Amino acid sequence: MKFFVINSGSSSIKFQVIEMKTETVLATGLVERIGEDTGRLKNTFLPGSATAREVVIEQPIADHYTGMMLVVNLLTDKEQGIIKDASEIAAIGHRVVHGGEDFRESTRLTPKVIEAIQRNVPLAPLHNPANLDGIKVAMELFPTVFQVAVFDTAFHQTMPEEAYMYALPYELYEQDRVRRYGFHGTSHRFVAGECARLLGKALHETNLITVHLGNGCSVTAIEKGQSIDTSLGMTPLEGLVMGTRCGDLDPAIHLFLKQNKGMDLEAIDTMLNKESGLKGLCGMNDMRDIHQAIEEGDAKAKMALDVATYRNRKYIGSYMAVLGQVDAIVFTAGIGENDDIVRAESLKGLGAFGVRLNLEENGKRSKEPRCISTPDSAIKVFVIPTNEELAIAREVANVLRG
Ligand code: ADP
Repeated sequence: MKFFVINSGSSSIKFQVIEMKTETVLATGLVERIGEDTGRLKNTFLPGSATAREVVIEQPIADHYTGMMLVVNLLTDKEQGIIKDASEIAAIGHRVVHGGEDFRESTRLTPKVIEAIQRNVPLAPLHNPANLDGIKVAMELFPTVFQVAVFDTAFHQTMPEEAYMYALPYELYEQDRVRRYGFHGTSHRFVAGECARLLGKALHETNLITVHLGNGCSVTAIEKGQSIDTSLGMTPLEGLVMGTRCGDLDPAIHLFLKQNKGMDLEAIDTMLNKESGLKGLCGMNDMRDIHQAIEEGDAKAKMALDVATYRNRKYIGSYMAVLGQVDAIVFTAGIGENDDIVRAESLKGLGAFGVRLNLEENGKRSKEPRCISTPDSAIKVFVIPTNEELAIAREVANVLRG
C-alpha cells in the first residue's frame, strides 16, 4: 500500500512516496522555485538503499499544478518510475500548518474541510494558502484517492484554557480566536509515541517533555499522551530562541521600536521573524557555524548559545512544574538530534530534579533513537529522530482505518 505525502509551500512542494507495509521510502523529492524562471525538481528513488538514484529536472515551473504534474510524470515514468499509474497511490497526506480550533486531529479532506482550512487563513496567512494550493492540485490530479489533512496545530488542541488563553480582552478570543495554538504537533506526537514504545509504556500512561530544536524550536508538556502546554503560540514566534525568530519578548518592545526607531509594524514583524533569534544575537543561524565560531573565540556566538540554552532550560523546568511527574525528556530535530552541547546545556541545573545525563552516551553520534541518561536518572532523557513524512503517513493510515 503506497502513500503520497505532500508538504506544499508558497514556492515549493516537498513530497515522499512511502510503502506503508514496511514504512520504506520509495521516492523523496522537492520541487522548488515555483513561479520563478529557474524551477527545479529533485527526486531520489529508493533513498538510502544500494539502488538509490537521483533525478534532477531544471526548467521553469509556472505553478503548483505544473510542479505536481512533473512529479507524477516522473513517478510513473515507464523506465525509472516506481508506480505504474496514479491509481497505485492508496492515500495522500497533506501537511497543513493551521487548523485553528476546527481540527483536533488529522481529517479526511472534503469540500467542508477545505472551507475550514480557508477560514483559518487569517491565523497563518503565509502557510495555509500555500498548503491549499497543494491540496487543490492533488484533488484535481487524484480525484478518487483518499486524501487527509494533517495539521501542525491539531495535537495541541488538548491544551486546557489556562494554557492557551492570552491575558487579553476576552472579545479578542471570542471574535477573532486570538489564543495560543502551538505548532510542530506532528513531530511532538511522533516522538512521544516512539518514546513511550522505548519506555515500554502505553502512551496514554506516559508524561513527557518533548523538545523540538530545528530552525524552528518548540517544547511541549505531554500528560498521559496529550499535549497540555507548548511554547509556540498563536503564530510560530513565541517561546524558545530559534534560528531567526526571537521567541518570548516583552510586547511593549513593538511600541518602543515604533517610537524610537520609526519602524512600522510590518518592519518589526519581519525583524522578529527573520532577523532575530540566534541570527540577531550573533549573525549566524546555523548551530554548526555557531560552535565553530565559539571555538575560534567569538564571544557573541557563545552568548547566543547561552541565551538559547538558558531559555530551553527555563521552559523544560517550567514544564516539570506543570506536569509534576515526568517519565522522560525527548530531544528531536536538527539541533536536538545532533548537538550534544545544546542538549547538555539545556539540562544544566536539572540534576536536583532527577535529570542525570550520561555524558558518554550524550556525546555519541547516531541516527537511531537512544537513551542518553544514566540508569539512576529519575527522569530519562532520549534522543529520538523525528520523521515528519512518516508521521504524516501514519496519521493518514489512522484516518483510513477509521
Ligand atoms: P527545520 O526546522 O528547517 O526542519 P531541522 O530540523 O533540519 O530544521 O534543523 C536545522 C538546524 O539543525 C540547522 O539550522 C542546524 O543548526 C542544526 N543542525 C543540523 N545538523 C547539526 C549538527 N550536526 N550539529 C549541530 N546542529 C546541527
